[in-house]
Amino acid sequence: MKMFYCHVCGSTHAKKAYVNELFNIYGKPVMVEQIPAMECARCGEETFDRETTERIRKIVHGDARPLRCLTMEVFSFSPV
Ligand SMILES: [Zn+2]
Repeated sequence: MKMFYCHVCGSTHAKKAYVNELFNIYGKPVMVEQIPAMECARCGEETFDRETTERIRKIVHGDARPLRCLTMEVFSFSPV
């Protein structure tokens, strides 16, 4: 087990979590579900290890087939 260190709040306590993350691939939003992450016990910041990050990169840039497609509504916080 590697030592956890939260780069946001400095806490060393984390729990294992599976998270969904949205990535932006050349302007196209892509969701990856069930990513194993360490979640900071204090502030909730999620961290992926190097292997996980590399695996995500391969999934979203590679030829993996998406499970399903979603239509997503996008809002702007500031009115035009
Ligand atoms: Zn933290």
